[in-house]
Amino acid sequence: MNMNLAENINTVRMRIKQAAQRAGRDPRDIKLLAVTKTRSPHMIDAALRNGIQFIAENRVQDAEEKLPLLTEKYREFHFIGHLQSNKIKKLLALAPTLIHSLDKLSTARKLSDHLEQLNRHQDVLIQVNTSGETSKFGVEPQKALDLINDIDRLPNLTVMGLMTIGILSADRKMIRSCFQLLRGMFRELQDQGLSHGKMQWLSMGMTSDFEIAIEEGANIIRIGSAIFGPINYD
Ligand SMILES: *Cc1c(COP(=O)(O)O)cnc(C)c1O
Repeated sequence: MNMNLAENINTVRMRIKQAAQRAGRDPRDIKLLAVTKTRSPHMIDAALRNGIQFIAENRVQDAEEKLPLLTEKYREFHFIGHLQSNKIKKLLALAPTLIHSLDKLSTARKLSDHLEQLNRHQDVLIQVNTSGETSKFGVEPQKALDLINDIDRLPNLTVMGLMTIGILSADRKMIRSCFQLLRGMFRELQDQGLSHGKMQWLSMGMTSDFEIAIEEGANIIRIGSAIFGPINYD
């Protein structure tokens, strides 16, 4: 198992490098997040021993159960799932480096209020629904600019970029256009400037599409299955 994991991680790093080279980019500018959802603390520890530094979960409760059980150190924990307002306190107790998935002003307000009580401050990304799939979370692209400016004005949050999940499709062109849409918004916001935050992180690309995402400018990719193997739902 550990051999496999080491090999998987090496393969992912090699593919990142190749995609970056194709795009004329420095692979060191791309942060690899290991998505640890459904994986045991034992498996996560093995990944951390094999060079993974950044880990991500999409459910607060799972993160809350597993993070204290890890024996290896991680550098950053990122939250990438839908954030329910009743989970905010628990999430903040886990000290996420970045929350990727804000898509509603009401949740953002509650988050900022909780942070104020703790005298803390939090970097966040805004999740955009670039695929039009109704099953996906994320703000609609036409509404994103207003939402971003509103969230940017909240005192204890700093908007640091954008996140999306590419369309679930075998059509690579459709996937690419999701990422192009997000990159266009990212650049527009970089030019426009925010009053508070700044556009630093473009979080896009998973196991099936991270190379396209890198070609389109992603600087955070979120990889689960390519590192840990297919998810086993028994
Ligand atoms: C599960 C998940 C990933 C990783 O998916 P893989 O296809 O296993 O790489 C990335 N981002 C989010 C938001 C996820 O929920």
